[in-house]
Amino acid sequence: MKIFAIGLGPGDPAYLAPRARLAISESQVVVGYTGYMGMVADLVEGKECISTGMRGEAARCQSAIEEALKGKLVSVICSGDAGIYGMASLLYELAAQHPEIEIEVVPGITAAASAAAILGSPLTNDFAVISLSDLLTPWAVIEKRLRACSQGDLVICLYNPQSKKRNDHLKRACAIVLEHQPGQTNCGYVRNAYRAEGSQSQICTLDELSRAEVDMFTTVIIGNSGTRVINNKLVTVRGYAV
Ligand code: SAH
Repeated sequence: MKIFAIGLGPGDPAYLAPRARLAISESQVVVGYTGYMGMVADLVEGKECISTGMRGEAARCQSAIEEALKGKLVSVICSGDAGIYGMASLLYELAAQHPEIEIEVVPGITAAASAAAILGSPLTNDFAVISLSDLLTPWAVIEKRLRACSQGDLVICLYNPQSKKRNDHLKRACAIVLEHQPGQTNCGYVRNAYRAEGSQSQICTLDELSRAEVDMFTTVIIGNSGTRVINNKLVTVRGYAV
């Protein structure tokens, strides 16, 4: 009995890991959010597909477990990496009573790596990843983490910078970072990195970022004291003597 937890990468099939491709093609059942099924349409054709809306994560994992218990080989697919704000941990939790089910996490290229590559090389030194989604993490905890990271002069990569309910999360996050970092700090954001729709990216200052309009398909990178703009690319220098 086996479930693959598969990260598809950013979306473009060129960035789908060969191991992920093989695992999906070997699976009898593929479980995932409808939008992600489309990314691997050629691979899932003819297979049993289980997809529900965005908020049915637990229900999706539960059905993956049920199918695995029937003896079927199952793939649960997520964007980016399955273990980074993905469904891998939920699968482990929900399958805790079923040690007979083997769970294999197949890593994928996470949004931070995709966005960083498009912007230049902003994650070359110590960095932190924070999700601004307060659906599962209280906003006060998110604020505490933002404060600690900016105090520590870490580059900060923000996932879920925009929620459906509130549109001021990024503005509030920037205000916290501005307590410790200057408004001229170099930043950038990327929408739809390596997706068929085409990506959009922008390099800006922290002041500008606090006024930027972003959506839930965007990853934001807030630079630190070592982040520069070199020939229109966002680069965090490591300190080599050049
Ligand atoms: N497991 C995923 C993250 C899911 S959380 C991963 O490892 O990448 C969803 C957030 O990821 C989005 O709100 C956005 O911030 C980011 N994201 C996912 N795909 C993206 C893409 N193609 N371009 C930019 N940001 C993306």
